[in-house]
Amino acid sequence: MLAINRKFNFAAAHRCTNNLWSLEKNNNYYGYGGGDEPGHGHNFEVYFVFEGPIDNNTGMIMELASLKKVIQKQIISHYDHHYLNKDIAYFEKHVPATENIAHHMFYEADNIYSGANISAAACHVRESAEKEATCYSDGRIESHYWFSLHIPQIMSFLSIKIRFTFETTSFDEGLGIVIPDHIVQKSISELRERLYSFISAKDTLDVLFLIEYCWDKVSKELPLKRIKLVSDDYILESSGPGKYGVGIKDAFFAAHKLSSPNLSYEQNRLKYGPCHRFHGHEFRIECSVSIEAEQVDNKMIFNELSSKFKEFIKGWQYINLSDLSFFKQHPSTGEYLIQILYDEADKVFDESIYRLRLWETPNNKFTIRKKSSDKGSI
Ligand SMILES: [Zn+2]
Ligand SMILES: [Zn+2]
Repeated sequence: MLAINRKFNFAAAHRCTNNLWSLEKNNNYYGYGGGDEPGHGHNFEVYFVFEGPIDNNTGMIMELASLKKVIQKQIISHYDHHYLNKDIAYFEKHVPATENIAHHMFYEADNIYSGANISAAACHVRESAEKEATCYSDGRIESHYWFSLHIPQIMSFLSIKIRFTFETTSFDEGLGIVIPDHIVQKSISELRERLYSFISAKDTLDVLFLIEYCWDKVSKELPLKRIKLVSDDYILESSGPGKYGVGIKDAFFAAHKLSSPNLSYEQNRLKYGPCHRFHGHEFRIECSVSIEAEQVDNKMIFNELSSKFKEFIKGWQYINLSDLSFFKQHPSTGEYLIQILYDEADKVFDESIYRLRLWETPNNKFTIRKKSSDKGSI
């Protein structure tokens, strides 16, 4: 399944208050700052994800320049430099918490593109370095919480960021959240204390123990869906005991220009805008591979996967994409490029890739997920 993901930004104020409740009840439920007047603010980041077939004429799922213009005008401009509780009618009666912003923006995007070939797949909103939320087309809402841990015993994970993802399928738009922040914070700070006492008592600490310990403790109290450990070099994901994936990051520097051999210079210029000129990118790439539980503790596996991937990426380093035979017949769009990368990389990793992500620019991302695989849901 191929998806494109476009990032937007907006700065806004909000106040997490249910108008039917007293200030005291609001503050008890939403925690610090929840109900206080006049509210507070964030520099929000929003990621819209769309899926659909590649248009053979353009080589794209959709023209990103037009998507950018439409979403900016019809959605983002209503949020940017606004007070969400007062300036957006929906939030007068529904609490504008991060989850509800993702939820409402998803349906706004879904409405705009309802008759189109593409469909809105998800909307992801980042409120701060600690809190994010995602709304999916099947109605699921996820909230994500990040925290940092310093573990000297784990060489590959000297400084780790851990993300906990919680999910609800019965989202209450009136309340606007999955779980009150302070309940998650309490659970995470208890976990952190226990982990630090473990860490100082042990000479060695393995990653499998760490992730299973986190899973065990947090899933007992909260609707935990996934855990993600992120270090500088690797990402380790788990959607439960026995379900693990490793993400490896790299980048390559390549040049290209978007042009269709079937179109004239003028037609290409109109269709692809500035992308019709010869230019280049630092293409960042993240390859996620399923691994077995016993491999999680094998430090060699991380190095092996990483050097395999680096060797693969070497072949893409400092090239002109237009020199590849496929791109002599087709425009070298991110959609086509990620498909070629996925097919080739999956062979290198014996078909164990469950997700490949490619950033053409920091704002434009392409993702392929291996469908009909339980590992793909990590
Ligand atoms: Zn806030
Ligand atoms: Zn380009």
